[in-house]
Amino acid sequence: MSRFEIKAKDGLSRLGVFTTTHGKVTTPLFMPVVHPAKSVISPSSLVEEFGFQMVITNSYIINSKEKFKAKALDEGVHSLLGFDGPIMTDSGTFQMYVHELPEEEIDPLEIVRFQREIGSDIGTILDVFSDPKVGRLKVEQDMYLSLERARMSVGEKGEMLLAGTVQGGVYTDLREKSASALAAMDFDVHPIGGVVPLMERYRYADVVRAVLASKKYLPVDRPVHLFGCGHPVFFSIAALLGCDFFDSASYAKFAEAGRMLLPSGTVHLEQLRELPCECPVCSTTTVEDLSGLSKDEQDLALMKHNLYITAAEMRRVRNAISKGKLLELASARARSHPSLYEALQVLMDSYDQIERMDPVADGTSIFYTGPETARHPALIRFHKKLMDRYPYRKTETLVMIPSRGSRPFSDTDPTIIDEARKRRPEELILLFVTPMGAIPWELEHVHPAQQCLFPDRIDDFTIQSAQKRLQQFIDSVSFKSGVWLSRDAPTDKLLEGINALASIDRVVSASDVKERLPEPRSEIKDWTVRKMTALLSVQWGITEVSRMNLDSMSFTFSRATGKIRHVSRNGEILFTVVPSTGLLAPTYKGGLEILKAGVHEDYIVRMAEDAAEFVAKGKSALAKFVAHANSELRAGEEVLVVDTEDELLGVGRAVLSGSEMMVFNKGVAVAIRHSKRP
Ligand SMILES: [Zn+2]
Repeated sequence: MSRFEIKAKDGLSRLGVFTTTHGKVTTPLFMPVVHPAKSVISPSSLVEEFGFQMVITNSYIINSKEKFKAKALDEGVHSLLGFDGPIMTDSGTFQMYVHELPEEEIDPLEIVRFQREIGSDIGTILDVFSDPKVGRLKVEQDMYLSLERARMSVGEKGEMLLAGTVQGGVYTDLREKSASALAAMDFDVHPIGGVVPLMERYRYADVVRAVLASKKYLPVDRPVHLFGCGHPVFFSIAALLGCDFFDSASYAKFAEAGRMLLPSGTVHLEQLRELPCECPVCSTTTVEDLSGLSKDEQDLALMKHNLYITAAEMRRVRNAISKGKLLELASARARSHPSLYEALQVLMDSYDQIERMDPVADGTSIFYTGPETARHPALIRFHKKLMDRYPYRKTETLVMIPSRGSRPFSDTDPTIIDEARKRRPEELILLFVTPMGAIPWELEHVHPAQQCLFPDRIDDFTIQSAQKRLQQFIDSVSFKSGVWLSRDAPTDKLLEGINALASIDRVVSASDVKERLPEPRSEIKDWTVRKMTALLSVQWGITEVSRMNLDSMSFTFSRATGKIRHVSRNGEILFTVVPSTGLLAPTYKGGLEILKAGVHEDYIVRMAEDAAEFVAKGKSALAKFVAHANSELRAGEEVLVVDTEDELLGVGRAVLSGSEMMVFNKGVAVAIRHSKRP
C-alpha cells in the first residue's frame, strides 16, 4: 500500500506527503547525505537549523566498517546517527562505480537484508550503475541485471520501504523498459539512477529525457527520486519533471573545494569581492574573514551556506507548486546556463505528457518568460478545448481584433462589442488575436485568457505558435467575409501569414468594422445566452446545450465588472461564475442540470457503493473509494460525483487527475462543494 498522498500539483510536479515509520515528510524534499559516523553537521541540526526533513546515509559504508556495523545491528541506524527522524539508506551502487570495486564486493541480497535489519526507513536495492561512456550494449546488460536484482530484492524488504532504481543510461527506450518492469514490482520509491555523471557534464537535457521516459511508466503513487541531484539550480526543472526526492553530498564536496552553491549557479570564494547571498553565514561575515579562517572552519562555513541555499530553494519549489508557478521559477533558473535552457526546452517539447498531469489552475496568473510560455499547459489546453468544443462554426462575418495586452480585451473596443451584442453568432463571430492564440469574445474571461501577461515584444516562436493556433481556428469556421482591425499590437503582423477561403479586409477603425457588418436582424440582446452556451460547451463538452433551456434561466451580474455572477432558475442558484477563472461552478441543482444535458464522461467520477453515503452528506470523495474516473480527467476540473447507479451525490473540484484517482489509495480525489444532503 502506498504511503504517498498528493496535496497540490503543477506540471508533472507534486506537493505531497510521504509517510515513513519515523514520521511524515513533505515533498519535493532534499536529503543531505550524511556519513554514518563523522558527519560535520549532525542529522538533528540538519533538521533543526536548516529545516531538512530526512537524511540519507550509506549502508555499504556502515556494513564495511566493523564498529559501525556492530552498533547499527545492535541499536539500529537511528541510534548510530543519533537521529530519530526518517532515514533513507543507499546500497553502495555508486561506490562500486566510483571505486571500480569488483562485483563480489557487495552481495545484492545481503545488502538489502542488512538495511532492513538496521531499521532503515527506506532501503535501496544494489543496482548496476552504467557509466555514460560505455556503449548501448553494456548499458542494456546492466539494466537487465539491475532488474533481476530488483526482482530478488523485493522479497527481502519486509516492513522496510524499498527503492527500486531505474537504469538505462541515456537510452530512453531502455529507461522505459526498466521503469515499466519495476512498476510491476512492489517498490515504494523509484530513484532515477546513473544521472550524476550526466549532471557533472552539464548534460541536463539528457537527464530530462531519461526522467520523462521513466515517468511515463512509473506508478503515479510512488515518489520519484533523482539520485545524486544536489545543485539547487536544477531543483525547479527536476521538480517540474515530477521528481519528488533529491539527495547529494555536494553541499560538503563543493565547500571543501571553496565553492558556494547559489540558486543561479556556483561561485568560488576566491573570485568574490563580497559574499553573494542573504543566508546567516553571508550576512554576518565577509570574504576576507572567511579567507582568513582555517581550512576546517572555512569548509564548515561554506557547507552551512550551501545547506541554507539548498533548503531555501526547495522551499521555493514547494511554494511555487502550491501557487501554480513552478514553470515560471524553472524558466528563471533555466536562464542561468545554456545547458539548463536547453533542458527546459527539451522538457517543454513533451508538452502533451506535462499537460495530462497539470492541474486546471484556480486562476493563477501566467507571466510570459520566453518561448516556453507558448507551450504552457494552460495555453495548450485552452486552445484544444476551443478547437474541439467551441459551439459556433458558421457565421456571416468574422471580426478579428489584435489584442494590445490590456484586459478585458472587450474594454478596448466598446463600439464593436455593442454591435456584437446586437447580433447572433450566425451573423458575427468576434475574435481577439493574442500572443496565446485566438480568443473568442464569449470566452475572454476564461482562464488563462485573462491571466496571461505578455510584453509588447515577444519572441518569434511565440508569434509562430499564435499564428498556428489562429490559422487552425479560422480553418474551423466558415464565414462569408473577414474583417481585421489593424492596430499597433504585437499580433497585428499575424494577418500577413493567414490563409483563408473568404477574403479578409484590413481596416483601421471601429467605424470601418461597423460598416462591414450585416444589419442587425434583431434587437434581442441574447449575448448572455450566447456566452453561457459557449461556456457550457467548452467547459464540460455539453453538445446539446439547447436542452438546458437557457431562456428560462435568470442571470445576475457583477456591478463592478459587468460579468455574469450567478445563474438561477425559479430563484434557485444553478451556477456561480468563479471570478478568478471565469468558469462555472455548479450547485447540486446545477449539477443535476448538466448531468441531464449530457455532460462529457470525463467529468463524471463514480464512487464505490460503500462511500456513496459519505459523499452525499458532503464529505470529500476519497481516492480509495473511486470506482471509476476517466483517464482524460484533469485535476482541478469541476466534476460530478455519482454512485454506481449514476445518481448524483455531489459536485466539486477534482484534486487528482482521473488516472491518479484510479491508482491512489490515500488522499482526497474530489473536494465536494455541494452535495445531495448537505
Ligand atoms: Zn550565504
